[in-house]
Amino acid sequence: MQLIWGISFLLSFQLYSQSRQVKEFTKTLCSSEFHGRGYVENGSNIAADFIGKTFQEIGLAPINGTYFQEFTFDVNTFPANCIVKLDTHLLQPGIDFLVHPASGSTCNSPACPDGRFFPIQHLQGADFLAKKLLFLNSNKVFDYDKDSVLIVSLIGCKDTEIKEIRAALMQLANSRPIVEITNEKFTWSVSQTAFLYPYIQLKEAAFSTSKGAIFLNIENKFLKNFQARNVFGLIKARKETDKTIIISAHYDHLGRMGRNTYFPGANDNASGNGMLLSLAENLLLKPLKKYNVIFIAFAAEEVGLIGSEFIVENPILPLKDIRFLLNLDIMGSGEEGVTVVNSTLFDKEYQLLCKLNNKKKALKQIKPRGPAANSDHYYFTQKGVPSFFIYTMGPNKHYHDVFDTFEELSFDAFEPLSKLLAAFIRKL
Ligand SMILES: [Zn+2]
Repeated sequence: MQLIWGISFLLSFQLYSQSRQVKEFTKTLCSSEFHGRGYVENGSNIAADFIGKTFQEIGLAPINGTYFQEFTFDVNTFPANCIVKLDTHLLQPGIDFLVHPASGSTCNSPACPDGRFFPIQHLQGADFLAKKLLFLNSNKVFDYDKDSVLIVSLIGCKDTEIKEIRAALMQLANSRPIVEITNEKFTWSVSQTAFLYPYIQLKEAAFSTSKGAIFLNIENKFLKNFQARNVFGLIKARKETDKTIIISAHYDHLGRMGRNTYFPGANDNASGNGMLLSLAENLLLKPLKKYNVIFIAFAAEEVGLIGSEFIVENPILPLKDIRFLLNLDIMGSGEEGVTVVNSTLFDKEYQLLCKLNNKKKALKQIKPRGPAANSDHYYFTQKGVPSFFIYTMGPNKHYHDVFDTFEELSFDAFEPLSKLLAAFIRKL
């Protein structure tokens, strides 16, 4: 009795400490020291070092003597001032306003390196659309406009109109500062191009208090050839083989928007890296017999799947040796189960996953979905590598915003999903 108690105590302690390490790892990736794992303050590479070090510490092996693969790309960033004031009221970045990912600087506006108050030219979306061509061809006609901010309200516009207005405003952002007024949920992203002038998205509620003056001090820094790194680690099969299973998750997120605002990217995708760690711990206890397992933490997914595209073009193993790739993103909830992208392409594997789930009663549902170019599995799928992209579903709707914090993660399905995925991998 005592012995059994001892064993179960040890086992539960081990499981407890494992999940605690996974949560600590996830939390660390979300911390301000990682700067939103983007390109300001080298956040992406701070994360890469941390993940590489963790892979080494838990016992994953390097591949060809390294845990890293470096590549470069251009990216627009906001390392310094992102200040918007309406009259004297200072607005909150990420809450009252977003700086468009491709925004330029107020320094490009005439004579205002430190920002300043601008006169306002304010139009409703429909009025702007009616005069769109005039605006787009008016650089000379309306020279005085260059010194004012063009504010266009998207409130009440149809989706097609919003698309058309935004396309025109993005063009105009190369000749004058732009503000759009919106009620949409803020969803930020990363851009590889930059306008000459600032482009701000402003919440209607914040704007309605304005009496007619707007202060802008926006500073972008366009980085040429930013060096980022994919991170990986290997568990060799018990039997000598080239055949390999890949488990991947992107670690990059959106970075900083100005000095005091960063996007923690907890669900997207610190949680996926937590799941990588959890699966690595599981598979290290007893490596697979027939397959090597390579864990890959991809960089630059949010910029446009750049890290995974690079590794597909510069593979660390022949792509034909990959038995299956399991790409994981948004692993922090799961109250409503998971979605499996590519399930329609790989029915045998999908049926296996469902069968195991029925047996283990792990998740509420495993929702099938066809192919989609929405994460790092995509370029592998294009090259004929069998793959799934799995993400959890639940009430946490924070996505690409400042509220996607560690504290908002429920980890509701994390343990059962980790066990289900491990069992799935062991049955492949
Ligand atoms: Zn993501």
